[in-house]
Amino acid sequence: MSDLFQNKNFTPLSELGEFGLIEKIQSSVQIYNSETIKGIGDDAAVIEKNDTYYTLVSTDILIEGIHFDLIYTPLKHLGYKAVAVNLSDICAMNGFPKQILVSIAVSNRFTVEAIEELYKGILLACDKYKVDLVGGDTSTIHKGMVISVTAIGEVEKEKIVYRNGAKEKDLIVVTGDLGGAYMGLQILEREKAVFLENPKIQPDLEGNDYILERQLKPEARKDIIEEFRRLEIQPSSMIDISDGLASEILHICKQSNVGCEIYEEKIPIDPQTYDRARQFIIDPTTCAMNGGEDYELLFTLPLKDYDKIKNHPDFTVIGYITEPAKKCHLITKSGTVHPITAQGWKHF
Ligand code: ADP
Ligand code: MG
Repeated sequence: MSDLFQNKNFTPLSELGEFGLIEKIQSSVQIYNSETIKGIGDDAAVIEKNDTYYTLVSTDILIEGIHFDLIYTPLKHLGYKAVAVNLSDICAMNGFPKQILVSIAVSNRFTVEAIEELYKGILLACDKYKVDLVGGDTSTIHKGMVISVTAIGEVEKEKIVYRNGAKEKDLIVVTGDLGGAYMGLQILEREKAVFLENPKIQPDLEGNDYILERQLKPEARKDIIEEFRRLEIQPSSMIDISDGLASEILHICKQSNVGCEIYEEKIPIDPQTYDRARQFIIDPTTCAMNGGEDYELLFTLPLKDYDKIKNHPDFTVIGYITEPAKKCHLITKSGTVHPITAQGWKHF
């Protein structure tokens, strides 16, 4: 076997983590084309299109056993989710998704009918978001299933929003509510454990419809991008919440070179998420901060635009941007100040 795998002097991937590894790749990349406006480092790459528009491109990979479990994920839902989470990254640039490419690798454990189910979900998402499936790739694999989706979109040049534009005193705003997808996953994992123990017991999913939908059928907030146009809202920075609020606000603050204060009591959490978290003896705020997979939008907005979003049911102001020296803090309900730390995704 190659030394690269064995030598004790080499660095384990776990030492760098996902973000460290991406930074390392990023630092060794050269840009050769002037049409490449923004490469690695935001929710989507930005490419010159014409006088009015930029093209946006983003890709994500979903691996069976890591990102999804087919014991409790219907293939149709999986197809829908694979598309929605990619479109979410286009929306996070304030853009509109237009096309997707879908690549799949499947083992011979799957039937034609199973792949048809997967594509029913993919095409349902295409219909819902009015995007065109224009290509992809197909391969076999020794074990399991891998799905990779690439999304292409566009944004008016003057409307593009990066992660790096947050300014001191800007409001921090989230759409929808947080933590639901994580609690949905906890319910599914619990029922899986019960099932594996005794396959005769029917799963008990009652009263969990909202959080199960949040986990199994997330939506990209394209409606919010349309709402921004209607209300003439131009966020100063934006990211979609795939890894949890903590990780995403740290991305915005790091790239914008600012600090932040987030107020625990302001974080929008659905009552069903809250109740189930309590039942599972999990702190509901932890679900929102570190749970992930909610695919809501997190953005910052100049204070002068507050009137445009106040009383809007989709928007919640959860804090504000501070000077860089102040770092990132969560102010708890009892008034104590906690540094916000990266959690995010820890697959390594
Ligand atoms: P998101 O959570 O929004 O999908 P990621 O954290 O996956 O974003 O990726 C952050 C940035 O790093 C993106 O610009 C993405 O294109 C880039 N990136 C991730 N993995 C790689 C890789 N293996 N090679 C090059 N760029 C990558
Ligand atoms: Mg993203």
